[in-house]
Amino acid sequence: MSVVAWIGLGNMGGPMSANMVAAGHEVRGFDLNPDAVTTAVTAGVTAASSISEAVAGADVVFTMLPKGEHARAVYFGDGGVLSTADPATLLVDSSTIDIETAQALHDAAAAAGFRFVDAPVSGGMSGATAGSLTFMIGGRADAVADATTFIEPMAANIIPTGGATTGQAAKICNNLMLFINLAATAEGAVLAERLGLDKQVFWDIASVSSGDSWALRTWYPIKDVVATAASNRDFAPTFTATLASKDIGLAITAARATDTPLEIGEHVAELFQRLIDEGEGGKDCSMIVKLVDGSLHA
Ligand code: NAD
Repeated sequence: MSVVAWIGLGNMGGPMSANMVAAGHEVRGFDLNPDAVTTAVTAGVTAASSISEAVAGADVVFTMLPKGEHARAVYFGDGGVLSTADPATLLVDSSTIDIETAQALHDAAAAAGFRFVDAPVSGGMSGATAGSLTFMIGGRADAVADATTFIEPMAANIIPTGGATTGQAAKICNNLMLFINLAATAEGAVLAERLGLDKQVFWDIASVSSGDSWALRTWYPIKDVVATAASNRDFAPTFTATLASKDIGLAITAARATDTPLEIGEHVAELFQRLIDEGEGGKDCSMIVKLVDGSLHA
């Protein structure tokens, strides 16, 4: 049994830390949102009143935060991880953040004598709950190996990606493809209905044909076809449009830095921005189907 500090107990960090408790670890959690802490405590996490209290005596610190700015605050801020944890503590950032921030975290952690890995995840809230996430881990080989041991109770797949920031690079490129697939699925699904196809018949065909994708099988944006889809629940979020906009924005930033044209990615980013502009950023990202069928605020 190890002592695990967990900073960021939200939609993902909550169930992930619960799986660490279930694996027999002592987990000390901190979050700015008291509701998130209360939910985590129900799952067996011990509430810490500050980052320094959470990380004191910890073998490993996990961070699961929304964006780069939050990760910078938690690692670099007054009373943050780098100034309060023992340098023997392994640091694992599982947030999805920009490459530049990930590099800054690696550099500052190494300068202070810590082992640090960027270890973002794929698999959503359902994967976080089931302990079946895919982790992509970038960093020095010894730190990646140490992190792998701790990550096992939360993961179905743990894939070392190479040096610093390559975990984030893999995650950003994966999500670029996911959101383009989602937009393609929305267009195909609406056009199929308008051409007179039954929605289930079309899905049955596409899911075993070349139009198949994870988005089609998991997030089908037409109601009552796929049980896990937010379209069945009035687009209550499994992955918000705001988060999708952030992730595709990370790809666009990385693409500009590497002189890579993302014509389709840039267009899909505009679709999420339109949802946000219409006040729907908190709804599921698959709601972009309403920009195809014209039903947004109809
Ligand atoms: P979330 O907003 O539900 O949770 C983030 C938590 O971090 C919140 O509870 C917030 O209060 C807390 N937080 C923010 N700043 C903090 C600070 N300074 N100190 C302590 N706590 C702080 O987000 P989420 O859905 O759990 O996502 C977390 C990360 O995982 C994001 O980077 C996201 O892109 C990524 N991700 C999400 C999903 C998903 O399906 N939701 C899937 C894969 C990856």
